[in-house]
Amino acid sequence: MEWLNFVVCLTFAAFITDVFSSAGNEWTYRGAKGPEHWHLDFPHCGGMKQSPISVATSEVIIDMERLTPIVFKNYDTSSSVDYTLENNGHTVQVDLNVKESEVTGGGLPGTFVAQQFHFHWGATDERGSEHDINGKHFPMEMHVVHYNAKYGNITSAINKDDGVAVLGFFFEIGRYNDHFQEIINHFRQIMYKNDMVDIKSMPLVQLMPAKLSKFYRYLGSLTTPPCYESVTWTLFNETIEIAEEQLVSFRTTVYENVKDDVNYGRDISDDFRMPQCLFRRRVYASHPDLQYAIDTTEDPTAAGTSSQPLIALLISCVTFLLLSM
Ligand SMILES: [Zn+2]
Repeated sequence: MEWLNFVVCLTFAAFITDVFSSAGNEWTYRGAKGPEHWHLDFPHCGGMKQSPISVATSEVIIDMERLTPIVFKNYDTSSSVDYTLENNGHTVQVDLNVKESEVTGGGLPGTFVAQQFHFHWGATDERGSEHDINGKHFPMEMHVVHYNAKYGNITSAINKDDGVAVLGFFFEIGRYNDHFQEIINHFRQIMYKNDMVDIKSMPLVQLMPAKLSKFYRYLGSLTTPPCYESVTWTLFNETIEIAEEQLVSFRTTVYENVKDDVNYGRDISDDFRMPQCLFRRRVYASHPDLQYAIDTTEDPTAAGTSSQPLIALLISCVTFLLLSM
């Protein structure tokens, strides 16, 4: 019977390894470890201040007194130390090796230091952004992640109420964007998960739109596990233009899998979480132009397509409330 004992032990060991390898540290945008299941391994993901959200422009509160223009410090300089571009299996991320760019003002609860920026994009132009405006999604969204200077580093700040500030930018298809091309040119060096390469740093201001005074503000979370509810969100109204062919590079060059994984290969496209319930939160806006009702008379087809996801979101929020009672 010794062999049976051995087989049982081996099976148990394999089971334990499987459980432990997936528990707590593996997550994806699809399947059994996808967003609907994140809260099982990462309880914060089931919280009531989660991100992203759908911004309903007719519901926002104008707060010009508090939401003054954000002050950008050292966003127009590039340091001598390079950026590190990496494929982490979930996104393309650029780590800022020198922490010298800061934001303050604009109703932010402190001074925040830029740590990294990364992207969320869709397999088609109709989707990709995490946040949406009245149900309208954009083909890509960039997040510039900052930590509150008073905590000293991102690791200490990441789970504090006022620990993180993310600046969110929406993209739209348009002109060829030279600044982003400098990043895209290195995609072939980070095709697979855990690949990284040092690249030339560039002033952050080159990656951002020209007008930054109109923005939405709300309190939310990291949009990936562990989903800590530590983020002061700023979503800018002006979009960044990028050429379709450049978006295609995002869609086709970088993969979720490690290089040696011969059984599995998938590009990172559609690395976004669905909008979460707002619950008691309010969204604020820095300018009266940002508060408007959706004009349903002008383009009835567009209104029809955009209201459907909002209804689905409403139903899921009501279900969430009923289940948590
Ligand atoms: Zn993000």
